Amino acid sequence: MQTVYLSREHVADLVQVNKYKIDPSLQFISRCIDDRYHNIDHPASLALPGADPGELALILATGNLYGFEVDKVKVFKALEAVVGGTNNLQMHTDSHDENKDSFKGCGHMNQLEISPETYGLTQEDVEFVLSSFKLAKSHHAKEVVLEGQHKKNAVVIVKGNYGIMPRHYLEVNGQKLLVEVFEFHQTLVDKRHRALAQELIKNDGMKLIEGQGEESLFEAFGDIGENHLMETLRSLAKGMPIYEVKFDEEGEFKVTDLGTV
Ligand SMILES: [Zn+2]
Repeated sequence: MQTVYLSREHVADLVQVNKYKIDPSLQFISRCIDDRYHNIDHPASLALPGADPGELALILATGNLYGFEVDKVKVFKALEAVVGGTNNLQMHTDSHDENKDSFKGCGHMNQLEISPETYGLTQEDVEFVLSSFKLAKSHHAKEVVLEGQHKKNAVVIVKGNYGIMPRHYLEVNGQKLLVEVFEFHQTLVDKRHRALAQELIKNDGMKLIEGQGEESLFEAFGDIGENHLMETLRSLAKGMPIYEVKFDEEGEFKVTDLGTV
């Protein structure tokens, strides 16, 4: 079936129906950008590539590419501390993945495993991420199993204190058509990166170059995070439209066309 790309008006329609105010107590609980989450599970608002395994990979890549000294075990502890314990760590696979000890069901983590150097990682880094989360899973970290194929209708970059549930029925030629969006929650990602930068400096998980502090680390996360997001979107869904959805405090929003992947 041909992919249906969403127009700006379609996205506005989806957001109007699917927006919800973020519960501040859940703001650091993550999920993947993956478009296959069900609305019914009320997926976490903080959407980023690969959920928490993706976040750990992002931190390690930042250390490699910026020349920061990294203590991997302490980095993992910092991530656990920021989310509020092992049982708040989130990851996912999908029903196509036969090998339950890998993250092949997550498009982002699969790309990292195939081509670590593209993401600024070594093979050893990827193995550390996989083994850390395998262990975390046995200590009640949460793994969601997603189903079906990606619909690849659009990407939305969300800004503000609202989240968007990813599934929606559009009226097309008198028919109801199920559409799903990939999401990246810029505001929550930035908030958590500030908290992570603070925690990593406090617990010596990362040692920066002299004269640099939390702000430098925060900016480096933003830089590497954008690379990781775009790298994975290009390999999963080239040509998909990208929109920014910016909320004000009342939940009113503006949708801006940012071009295509
Ligand atoms: Zn994923």
